[in-house]
Amino acid sequence: MRNIRTVYVATLLILIGLYSLSQVRAYYGMKEGVCNEIQYFNSLFSRTIQSNLHEVEMLLDSLGRELLRDQMYRDVPKSKKLMGELLKRADYLVGFGLTDPEGNYIALSSGIDKNKAIDLNKNPETIATFNEVLKSDSMVLGKVYLFSGLNQWILPLRKTLRDDSGKIIGVMTTGISVEKATNFFDNNLISPDQVSIILTEFGQRRLLVSPLSKDQYKAMYSSEISPEKYQDITENIIEATSKTLEDIKEQEFPIFFESESELLHKEVFNSAQYVSRYKIWILTFVPVETTWQLFLQDRFYLKLITFFGTTLTFAVFSWVILRKEEQAKKQLKYQAMHDPLTQLYNRSALPSIGLQWTEPRADSFQLFYIDLDNFKNINDSFGHSYGDVVLIQVADRLKARLPKKSAVFRVGGDEFVALLKIERSRLDESANLLIEKLSEPYSVAGMTLHLGVSIGISRFPEDAPTIDDLLIMADIAMYNAKKRRNSYSLYNAELQEIMQRKTSIENHLRQALHGAELFMMYQPQISREGKLHGAEALVRWKNPVLGFVPPDQFIGIAEESGLMVQLGAFIIERTCMEFRQILDQCAEEAVELTISINVSVKQMLENNFKEQLLSALEKYNIERSRTTLEITESLFIDELGYILPLLNDIRSTGITISLDDFGTGYSSLSMLRSLPIDELKIDRSFIQSILKQPQDAEMANSIINMGQTLKMKVLAEGIEEEGQLALLNSFGCDLYQGYYYSPPLTAEGLIQFITTFQQEQKVSV
Ligand code: C2E
Ligand code: CA
Ligand code: CA
Repeated sequence: MRNIRTVYVATLLILIGLYSLSQVRAYYGMKEGVCNEIQYFNSLFSRTIQSNLHEVEMLLDSLGRELLRDQMYRDVPKSKKLMGELLKRADYLVGFGLTDPEGNYIALSSGIDKNKAIDLNKNPETIATFNEVLKSDSMVLGKVYLFSGLNQWILPLRKTLRDDSGKIIGVMTTGISVEKATNFFDNNLISPDQVSIILTEFGQRRLLVSPLSKDQYKAMYSSEISPEKYQDITENIIEATSKTLEDIKEQEFPIFFESESELLHKEVFNSAQYVSRYKIWILTFVPVETTWQLFLQDRFYLKLITFFGTTLTFAVFSWVILRKEEQAKKQLKYQAMHDPLTQLYNRSALPSIGLQWTEPRADSFQLFYIDLDNFKNINDSFGHSYGDVVLIQVADRLKARLPKKSAVFRVGGDEFVALLKIERSRLDESANLLIEKLSEPYSVAGMTLHLGVSIGISRFPEDAPTIDDLLIMADIAMYNAKKRRNSYSLYNAELQEIMQRKTSIENHLRQALHGAELFMMYQPQISREGKLHGAEALVRWKNPVLGFVPPDQFIGIAEESGLMVQLGAFIIERTCMEFRQILDQCAEEAVELTISINVSVKQMLENNFKEQLLSALEKYNIERSRTTLEITESLFIDELGYILPLLNDIRSTGITISLDDFGTGYSSLSMLRSLPIDELKIDRSFIQSILKQPQDAEMANSIINMGQTLKMKVLAEGIEEEGQLALLNSFGCDLYQGYYYSPPLTAEGLIQFITTFQQEQKVSV
């Protein structure tokens, strides 16, 4: 998810970046455009000015020629008339005038009040340029002034009138209306802030092309550019071109530069060009910010809105997708951590939640490992849907009974784990109450079902610092509790030791299965007639580290750890092999000898148990009628649903089934009747005390009677004394096994036993 988010943000940033970049490029493109345009404009402007001035100068020249002809200048009315005619040819001129070299008007075109015309060499506004005219051969630009005769801002243009000898006769004057001149440029302006001026070397502005109002003209024309400013401008020009001022002037280079405008009080782009004939600079400038304005005008906001609109759509779209995905992830995470049936946490949630509970400064708490007793029976007897309902009810009771902040997990079919905080002093009470609540009857589809529960408890932090270890410890305690059923057990060090021994046994057994540490012993079984009946095969394990480990210790561990399948296969194979040898060696004495093999229920649950057994019997040519399987009652009762048909099947092949340890379990007479059993083995514990405890003798007696009723053979195991034998004989017991006759023997030993026993029998007969 974080990755997607990063990609998403990165994409967004890249988009914004690209957009900004494109806008920056557009801006610089715009700026270049503006710079190009003002240069183009200025060259257009200067060409126009030059041609206009040139035209005016030619007009003045032709006026001069006419005035000189026959000294017409002396005839004022004639001169006036001539001026009037010329004026018609150039409507941008406001009038003509002629002064004597002292600046006194001789003649003026009609319409101009002579009194309002200025005496050129007396007026401070005009005196400088007037003097310049007298020195110059070409037309000279005067200073713009408000001509009161016409109430117009006028750019005066003057040229000397000389006779053929070059003597100055007078000065011809005309004027261009500034307003008319500016109109000319109106349509060509780049920016409303654009200013174009003509600048003489004296620093006077001559003509403005700009949107200035008439009021502004006054401010404009009444001040002059200071010599310093003029120098600034020329310095800028030199700097921009790296040429000498003389070169620039002579070759009339167009020049571009940036400067601070004293007129606009802004940074401006300038384009300048010198016109040497009239000794003027033609200058156009626009504020640098024009670029920005044009940039904004160029659908900038539309583009911006479009961009952000698109981006926003993208963002919203992505956000929706991200959210959906996040929700799906949350859902998945929930599913990954919860049991779909009970909605409790599942086993996979244990490590992460356990980690929170076992943080370094976490509060102390208890771990309850809760296992339902007999739950399998419900599944087997009523079906899984019933089992499911029970599990849901168990979960509900757990949630209702445990403190609010407990974490409850379903960690296996019928196993639950709860992490909870209760006071130590109330632990006993709480555990018992929970057991009581959980073992109250369950009602499913009108049926009342009974369940027991075993709880193992470990405590954080004193028992272990990690959830894994606490779990193992609670599990150990739970197994201990299971021995009693419907009870709880607190983990303690003793249990730990037992557990460690278990683990050690398991590890060594795993190795032993590949080596020669395991072997079989055989204990003879004798009939009530004193004849050799058969032998029970008993597995032995001698480990170099653990020493001799009795089978009732490691068989259980093998079953729990899944080693029983391999161990069982070994037992069957080895027993069949050795029994074949025994039969071969004692062919005469062992005609009817049977072999009893102990099988654990776990072993029988293996898929191909029957096939494996039959093939071993076949391999060593052992008749099925000689073969007995010993099954422990208490164990197979739990798996009755599966075992019963299997037993029937096996029995139908001719193999005998014996019920081992009979009397310690729960089998009732009625149940016994429906089981496919041929032989009952009375448990050693009854035989042991048969002479001392009358009720045990009674028990043995009734078992024997029961067997006879059900047409089963009854075998008494653990016979150690003659008295036991005699008593059982009087009860009518069929078969005997025990130290009285022989302890378990190796195959060799059994062969020995068989031959000597037969001889004894012969002797005694
Ligand atoms: P079990 O099947 O009831 O085996 C009889 C046990 O009683 C044997 O102990 C045997 O040595 C012992 N015993 C026989 N006669 C006497 C006697 O007169 N006095 C005394 N005190 N004990 C006697 P063992 O061999 O230690 O076996 C213990 C249990 O381990 C067996 O009980 C059986 O449940 C299991 N077991 C032994 N071998 C195998 C095997 O090959 N497969 C399976 N599945 N279980 C086995
Ligand atoms: Ca047995
Ligand atoms: Ca037994």
